[in-house]
Amino acid sequence: MTETASPSESHQPTETTPAGDSRLTATSITHRYGELSVLEAIDLEITPGAVTAVIGPNGTGKTTLLRILLGQLTPTEGTVEYTGPAADRPIGYLPQQPSFRPQFTAAETLAFYGALLGLSVDTHTALERVGLADAADRPVEALSGGMRRLLGIAQSLVGEPPVVVFDEPASGLDPSMSTRAFEILADQAAEGTAIVVSSHDLGLVERFADRVLVVHDGTIAGRGSPRELMAETETASLWDVYDAVVHGHRGDT
Ligand code: ADP
Repeated sequence: MTETASPSESHQPTETTPAGDSRLTATSITHRYGELSVLEAIDLEITPGAVTAVIGPNGTGKTTLLRILLGQLTPTEGTVEYTGPAADRPIGYLPQQPSFRPQFTAAETLAFYGALLGLSVDTHTALERVGLADAADRPVEALSGGMRRLLGIAQSLVGEPPVVVFDEPASGLDPSMSTRAFEILADQAAEGTAIVVSSHDLGLVERFADRVLVVHDGTIAGRGSPRELMAETETASLWDVYDAVVHGHRGDT
């Protein structure tokens, strides 16, 4: 069964804004799993026309934050508000491990997913966008891991959601496929979509993200464009920014 990654019913538009001005605003998000405090009073905005990357160590709460933004998880405290024009599907989602029906072809997978959402899908255009047009009639089980990830990206974009959340779209992919995945995200942002992506590939984040949120110890310990973060921490790469913010090392490290 295809993982449905359903758009949240809770994210219906709350006000009318011009097309292309869809955003998510999270206010004072705190989350606890029982006794375990994961996120603490986080404020952030996911803005249109930009790739916002969420980085941070494993277990620091990135997936929890993404699921709260999607409306899949209700935060212990705080709110997430979607503002923008009415959309068939306000928020798209690529989970860390999308699962597919192995016998469905790539085209059938997208058509089936569209049907689940009550949308008709131009599968050729959807596959072309991620470079899979030639694989339209191949069953998912015959696609490489990288091609499946691209299919997952195409699936997350079904219905042209104005906001799309990607949880580690490049994990486990070779360098050229990882780059391809981020190029698609950047192309999508250039068309006005608000993109949020978590990734451990700091080289790609530095290259493709417009804004970076460094999640550490339950808070956003750094935020800004890669360039701004490097200037702030007096470092020369996002790797060094990460080291500075997460491990407290500054400059010339
Ligand atoms: P990340 O995506 O940064 O690796 P997660 O958001 O998955 O972090 O997890 C943050 C912390 O919350 C981890 O300590 C994890 O074990 C814990 N956690 C995640 N999901 C649950 C859950 N459903 N129940 C209890 N603890 C959870």
